Amino acid sequence: MGTVLITGGSRGIGRATALLAAQRGWPAAINYRHDALAAADTAAEVKRRGARATTIQGDVSVEADVVAMFAKAQADLGRLGGVVINAGIVAPAMRLADMSAERIGKVFQVNVLGAYLCAREAARALARSRGGNGGSVVLVSSVAARLGAPGEYVDYAGSKAALDTLAIGLAKELGADGVRVNAVRPGLIDTQIHADSGDPDRARKLASATPLGRAGKAEETAEAIVWLLSDAASYVTGSVLDVTGGR
Ligand code: NAP
Repeated sequence: MGTVLITGGSRGIGRATALLAAQRGWPAAINYRHDALAAADTAAEVKRRGARATTIQGDVSVEADVVAMFAKAQADLGRLGGVVINAGIVAPAMRLADMSAERIGKVFQVNVLGAYLCAREAARALARSRGGNGGSVVLVSSVAARLGAPGEYVDYAGSKAALDTLAIGLAKELGADGVRVNAVRPGLIDTQIHADSGDPDRARKLASATPLGRAGKAEETAEAIVWLLSDAASYVTGSVLDVTGGR
């Protein structure tokens, strides 16, 4: 077990993943974009759970930031064993016909380019043929990749579908290098991301339509992510795991 680097680790699903991973013994490098206070608070909670932690500012859609993020994570906490590619954005809900090119571009820059850059750096850091120790990469996709998110954000849905495909392809590239690659598709999880789509209560409002009748918690998503990081999932690679309450 090495260090785990979590993009967008300061709040929501990323924060819950950092805290649970810390409980299981992983030192955690917590990336964030704007909110240094939230990242520092997550790092303090990780330390309270007995694991080492560092925070790293950086925009995943900027190549130089991503390269620097991987270097700092390893300089501060030692060799990487896991990478959780979690940072992602949505934009206000609307139909495709009303979306600007700028908005669509931004969603794809962060969710697709950002994830691919982080996955590339993870491959470089973890692959045994490049001097790494092997490890596990978890991509945080979305059930939107399967549902399409009509009338809300088909741009976001498509960006997440790219991550499902990346998990399948990269798992095949890196299997012989001792690196497992999987994706988790959360459903309606109660975090701050819904405020960015224009409806902070979205998860709770739509929750009754899910088979389990409620929104999920960030901690419940973290359980799946940390399982995929761990040796308990040693024969799981190229998989896409729904954490959706049946949605
Ligand atoms: P969240 O509460 O909005 O947190 C997003 C995190 O990502 C924050 O730490 C944020 O940092 C960071 N971030 C955003 N843009 C970034 C960038 N360009 N570079 C680096 N960090 C960036 O979101 P969440 O609900 O936990 O979602 C986490 C992931 O799960 C996302 O990929 C999301 O698409 C996916 N997901 C969420 C749900 C859900 O219902 N919540 C469902 C399906 C999938 P700052 O605060 O510093 O900007």
